[in-house]
Amino acid sequence: MLHLSSVSTGGEAPRHVKVLILGAGPAGLAAALYAARAELQPVVLTGTQLGGQAALTHTIENYPGFPDGVGGAELGDLFQRQAERFGATVEFDTAHSVDLAQRPFRVQTDNGEYRAETLIIATGASPNHLKVPGEAELTGRGVSYCATCDGWFFKDKQVVVVGGGDSALEEGLFLTRYATSVTIVHRRETLRAGAILQKRAFAHPKIRFIWNTIVTEILGKEAVEAVRLKNVQTGEETVFPTDGVFIFIGHTPNTHMFVGQLEMENGYIKVDSRMHTSIPGVFAAGEAADPHFRQVITSAGMGAAAAMEATRFLAELSK
Ligand code: NAP
Repeated sequence: MLHLSSVSTGGEAPRHVKVLILGAGPAGLAAALYAARAELQPVVLTGTQLGGQAALTHTIENYPGFPDGVGGAELGDLFQRQAERFGATVEFDTAHSVDLAQRPFRVQTDNGEYRAETLIIATGASPNHLKVPGEAELTGRGVSYCATCDGWFFKDKQVVVVGGGDSALEEGLFLTRYATSVTIVHRRETLRAGAILQKRAFAHPKIRFIWNTIVTEILGKEAVEAVRLKNVQTGEETVFPTDGVFIFIGHTPNTHMFVGQLEMENGYIKVDSRMHTSIPGVFAAGEAADPHFRQVITSAGMGAAAAMEATRFLAELSK
């Protein structure tokens, strides 16, 4: 299990830190490791998702060093322990506003205030919603965005998965452990997912596909009972009975806190090749700043680079 520091800022004077890291996914924890090894005593604020999105993934098969794969939560725990071994502190706290107009940067959190000499933003991304009738009402009652979290509830049931990317296929394959059938509904007739996952999904006896189709409504009173489908080529509408709907249609970066303060592009924080944002001393890493790769390994690499640059920035200041 992931574990937390007991340090609290509740009701106290602002806490002054050299490196404050927002987010405890692969980017934030890799940054913490590098900043800790530079003896900067970084503090990581976990936000609400300790371990980031990776912690919600059942098995990660493409992080080097784990030839048999590694559990997402387990990998997050290993990242955290390694960073803490060198002096990083991980706080179960969430930043809700930042003032980047002056340094030290001010960060208000649920538990108090930080003043940070440097800031590394690794706030990741959150799953997109379909925004169709019934989705919000039935979330937690058959609508889910996390197979690892909720798959068990669908033992011997039928589920629909929406999306055609790596997440949809990977999570769909995971759901075959529990569900009697997994129907993947995709809006086109070719998948975005990588070749290996496609091969596995096509070969799986419990998985079937419905192509060129979107979900226009999720139906059910107390729990999900069916989805309304629309074929985007013919316009034909059908009601498809199901016990669950798992939605994997991409992510939106968690960057609203920085709007108007940092340069952004399509919601992603703009960084240069060294993870510098538009404000000196503020760095960004991982999915908050990466619309392209969005992998555990690339996020961790960005986090390490951001911490190395934060270290260099502080060293320049003290010259
Ligand atoms: P993604 O690659 O952006 O795919 C999103 C999918 O949802 C696409 O197939 C897209 O359709 C579909 N979609 C988007 N909006 C939709 C809407 N409103 N209605 C219906 N369908 C919609 O997202 P992801 O699968 O979450 O993957 C995110 C990143 O993480 C990717 O870089 C991926 O490679 C990575 N990832 C990797 C692994 C792995 O390597 N094992 C596992 C999970 C995720 P279109 O195809 O038509 O655009």
